[in-house]
Amino acid sequence: MHLNAWISSLTLAAAIAAVAVHYYRLYVRNRHQLTATQSEINDLNAQLTACRAQGLRASSEYAALVSGCGAGVLLLDGAGNIVEASPSAAKTLSASELHLKGKSLLHATLSPDLDECLEIARSQREIRRCEFRTPGAVNTLSVTIVPVGSTEQPCRCVVIVNDVTELRRLETMRRDFVANVSHELRTPLTSIRAMAETLQDGALNDATVADRFLGIISAEAQRLTRISEDLLVLSHAESRPTELSPVDLSLMVDQIAQRFQKQAANSGIQLLAETEPGLNVSGSADQLEQVLINLIDNAIKYTPEGGRVVVRAQAQIGSARVCVTDTGIGIMNQDLPRIFERFYRVDKARSRESGGTGLGLAIVKHIVESHGGCVNVESEFNRGSTFIVTIPLT
Ligand code: ADP
Repeated sequence: MHLNAWISSLTLAAAIAAVAVHYYRLYVRNRHQLTATQSEINDLNAQLTACRAQGLRASSEYAALVSGCGAGVLLLDGAGNIVEASPSAAKTLSASELHLKGKSLLHATLSPDLDECLEIARSQREIRRCEFRTPGAVNTLSVTIVPVGSTEQPCRCVVIVNDVTELRRLETMRRDFVANVSHELRTPLTSIRAMAETLQDGALNDATVADRFLGIISAEAQRLTRISEDLLVLSHAESRPTELSPVDLSLMVDQIAQRFQKQAANSGIQLLAETEPGLNVSGSADQLEQVLINLIDNAIKYTPEGGRVVVRAQAQIGSARVCVTDTGIGIMNQDLPRIFERFYRVDKARSRESGGTGLGLAIVKHIVESHGGCVNVESEFNRGSTFIVTIPLT
């Protein structure tokens, strides 16, 4: 080979080697970059998976929260239409979740007051609360409207709906009860005060007047005692869970009827007990005695001389049925639905005269129902009444 050719070959080989080295270096550098990029991609993928899992967890936590909480939850879009409704919201608004979707709040609730409240919440972006009655005033619903975000346009809202019908009913009952108790206590107290003042003003010197006034004071004081005792019995029946023990109702009916024989005889009334043996129930003996005492006492109180009271106890389809029947004054149809209310009396003067407090039947109803039973009345004005108590047999 010529020297020149040899040199050219050598130069070419060197050039090729230089190029190869250059590309090798390039490859090594890029491979490092590629590996770094790949690991960045892996990191991003891991973050994405974590975010997705977090998102899924948050959305399942949100779903559990919405379906698990007692309140109904609605989500309104920017136009004020329902886009999500929880099962309890649907139940409270007496509609299906599907039926609610797409409707405006006004359309779903038919309450212009609530719609106005929503408009204020949306325009002022503040939490608003309001209460409204459903059509026909069947239920009372308490609503809280919460705008979502502080700047979002148009404004979406979360609406929380609570049925407060029972709560409001109990509040009214409590208010009425306090008013009734005050009234019932005020009457005898006023009478006692007036008599005492008259005695202080000189009536004490007149033995006959003094004796009469002291008699009235004593009677009114006894009335106060009876009212407070009945209030105590009622409150115990309400607040204490019934302590259950086996009770032989047949034996109890016989014994209580026996206890009332003297009182019935004094009023010229015949009192009979007809009991089927072996009526065993589970309950509080004291409370069940109170039921029988109140019913038999009423039957004697509201039956004129020469009348009859019969107490029957028998088994009937898994229950003990106790009927207290009298041939007394009876109760008019219009009064029947109210006689189990606290302090309701058909004839106030007559009830007062016979020592009534107006709480006896309320106590009966409460005790019987807390024993899983029920009490009913059938009556014919001027002919007599039957009170029927049913309690499950053990
Ligand atoms: P009270 O202490 O006035 O008897 P209750 O709660 O026991 O109160 O009874 C409520 C009202 O129901 C009585 O005032 C009376 O008007 C009526 N009532 C209860 N039992 C009888 C009955 N056996 N016959 C007629 N009316 C009755």
